[in-house]
Amino acid sequence: MRGANLLYSFYVAISAQSNKNYVRFPAIGDWGGSDYIIFPDGNTFTQEYGAASMDRLCGEKTCDFLLSLGDNFYTEGVKDIDDTRFHFTYELVYGKASEREVLKTLDFYQCLGNHDHRDNATAQVLYSNLMETTFKIPDLWYSFTIEKESFSFKMIMIDTMVMMNSRETHQLPGYPDRDYRAEQNAWLEEELANSDADYLIVSGHHPVYSVSTHGPTSALVETLQPLLEKYHVDAYLCGHDHNMQHWFHKRTHYFISGMGEIPNPTLRNMNHPLNPAEAFDYFTILKPIQEELLGILECFSRIFLIN
Ligand SMILES: [Zn+2]
Repeated sequence: MRGANLLYSFYVAISAQSNKNYVRFPAIGDWGGSDYIIFPDGNTFTQEYGAASMDRLCGEKTCDFLLSLGDNFYTEGVKDIDDTRFHFTYELVYGKASEREVLKTLDFYQCLGNHDHRDNATAQVLYSNLMETTFKIPDLWYSFTIEKESFSFKMIMIDTMVMMNSRETHQLPGYPDRDYRAEQNAWLEEELANSDADYLIVSGHHPVYSVSTHGPTSALVETLQPLLEKYHVDAYLCGHDHNMQHWFHKRTHYFISGMGEIPNPTLRNMNHPLNPAEAFDYFTILKPIQEELLGILECFSRIFLIN
């Protein structure tokens, strides 16, 4: 294991960046508030710390967007587009009802995690498409491209629950007549094959590789990793394990940023045979003493240039 201060090393590289022609976005997973009795409104102190950090970060240095890595609403997802969790867990903390002047202006691109699929996963898509909100998830899987002066940047957002054919996805509308897994896999390969972007990123909820509680995801090692390698994807970003991890394996960066709610230092799958043999970075905290360290991966194009 190499040094743990991954966030600071990113930060230093950003400070040295004099060319403003970059893509910058904080990436945070597993931030989904709480439906526990001690947080009756559905948002938490940890969320507030994370939101304040992103607001300050994006205020000091322009951000292009915010990226969510899934598990948006603990513990059971949302019921429908009128669910009050949209207001208390999202809008009040990050969105239009927030007092954070920078954060509330930025589109927050979402993907769905296992907790989002427990109830009505497509309600999050409907909310995004029907309401006036920065909560952006136009479909279960989608992509967007940002054109800069000297390069282009493509983000492909996938639903890893669908890729894993998880039981919860069998309650999606039209299943099994509609084969969501085959449909997404075909779409993803086409998106990757047809991309001419200078920087190509894929994001989803579950890790391909992880040393922590959930460990590597065999379905993604089998299905996703070969595509990332074949199409020279620069990075795969995910959450699900509640800490920060980084590998560089077969020319792709693998990042986990899952400390949006409850940091977890577990190294249960440190020696799992599906994990790459390369060294990795690992970072976690147990107390939010310095809020700027709280679970936010700041990403920008330059990290791919310094390797
Ligand atoms: Zn999860």
